[in-house]
Amino acid sequence: MTDEIEKKVYRGRIKVPYKHTAGAYVEKFITEIGKNNKIFGVKCPKCGEISVPPKMICFKCFEKMEEWVELGNQGTITGFTVVTHSTPVMPLEPPFAYARIKLDGADTDFVHIINEGDPAKLEIGAKVEAVFKEKPRKRILDIEYFKLI
Ligand SMILES: [Zn+2]
Repeated sequence: MTDEIEKKVYRGRIKVPYKHTAGAYVEKFITEIGKNNKIFGVKCPKCGEISVPPKMICFKCFEKMEEWVELGNQGTITGFTVVTHSTPVMPLEPPFAYARIKLDGADTDFVHIINEGDPAKLEIGAKVEAVFKEKPRKRILDIEYFKLI
């Protein structure tokens, strides 16, 4: 004899809208990109490392970083992966690449998009330049992408 109990399953979806603050450092970073087309990092007072995107505390020394340093809009690819398949959330039509970029004057890498129609042209060590969005929306994609130079 089995004790089978009929199980009913109700499917549903709970919508949980939320907002969170980006924090003072990311707020300044994004604002400078959108309003002035300038990219800033912060410098550690102890080891001198310049971090971009800016963070409040140096991950090496645990010192508070308060010195803002304007960086150029050019850098070097330190790693990348090419995207060839499209999904609804892609920032660009493939092919494009997500890349680690070391901005000139920075000591840390920064992840962003490389818009290059021919991925074979991408290589570690290639120089890139930021292309800023004409109508900024206070998002990291106010740097629309980087291009090879
Ligand atoms: Zn440090």
